[in-house]
Parts: sequence; C-alpha cells; structure tokens
Amino acid sequence: MPNASEHPAIATLLDYWLHDSDAATTDAVDEHLMVCDKCGRRLDEIAALSDAVRDAFRAGVVAAVTSGPFVQHLAAEGLKLRVYRLETNGSVNCSVAPEDDLLVTRLQVPTAGVTRIDMLAESSTEPGVQHRAEDIPFDPDSGEVVVIENIARVRAQPAQTLQVTLLAMEQSGPRQLGRYTFHHRP
Ligand SMILES: [Zn+2]
Repeated sequence: MPNASEHPAIATLLDYWLHDSDAATTDAVDEHLMVCDKCGRRLDEIAALSDAVRDAFRAGVVAAVTSGPFVQHLAAEGLKLRVYRLETNGSVNCSVAPEDDLLVTRLQVPTAGVTRIDMLAESSTEPGVQHRAEDIPFDPDSGEVVVIENIARVRAQPAQTLQVTLLAMEQSGPRQLGRYTFHHRP
C-alpha cells in the first residue's frame, strides 16, 4: 500500500478498520476492496470482531478478541503469528520481532457455567486507568480467550507491565476468573 493492485497486509486492513490509515492508504484500500472479494471477506472477519472491543484496541492497551478458528485462518494465509499461551493467573515476558505480523495471546480460563466474560486491562504506563471490554467472545469448549494485538502499537510501546483480568459477570456480581501479567519489552 498505497498500491491499489496489491492485497493489503492484515495490519493495513486492521488500521483501515480502525480509521487509523492515512488518506492515501485509505483510498488505495477502498479501491482495492471494490475489485477484490478475498480482501472484502477478510475485512468482514475483522469487522466481526466485536465493535465493543474496538475502543480498547484503539487505545493500544489490549486488543481485539477473536476466535481460535479465525487465528488458524490467519496462519493458513501465511501471516507470521507470535503466539503466547498463558495459564490461568500466569505471566509472560513478551516482545515482538520485526518479522511478526500479529501478536496472539491465548488466555486459559475456567469457563464452566460462565455465560458472559468482561476483560479489564491496565498498563503500568497509565496506573489506575482501566480499559474494559464487555461481553467478549470466548470458547467454552477449549476454555480459552484469544486476543489479537495491534502489533504496530505494541512495537511503539515502551517497556511496561500489563495486567489483564477476566471476570465472569453473574447475577450475584462479577467473579474473577483469572489474572494475567505481561512484562513487555520493546
Ligand atoms: Zn485483495
């Protein structure tokens, strides 16, 4: 991009969906989408990520929440995924390499009896500021929440610690399912 005859990278489509791409790139993607059904379908899949999580994603804290099959589909398209799998209440030292296209985090979570999960994220760069994504998708069979991070934003982030909390929203109130810690280095 901005060459309209090429398929845009998934990162470019993500920027486009977030209205973050510059005018020339936006025009090129618009033009490309008029003639390319494949990229149109990809964009539909991106758009199917809940609108509710778009604000948290834009804020660069965390991220779009999606499904395991969508991630497998991205891998099958040849995208280089950096994948971290965290046990319940686990932590990880994370960073990204120049060749990575997407950062995928698989949070293991006990989902028995759970019907709705909210996600809270707080970065050490903004203490006390909690970003909340409500009613996020999760896979009750695998007991997993899959998060895709905007890698361009991750690359731009300073070293920091990110705390992510998953809450089951129940009649009696929220119940903490798991807490996950990311020690990020650029
Ligand atoms: Zn295309």
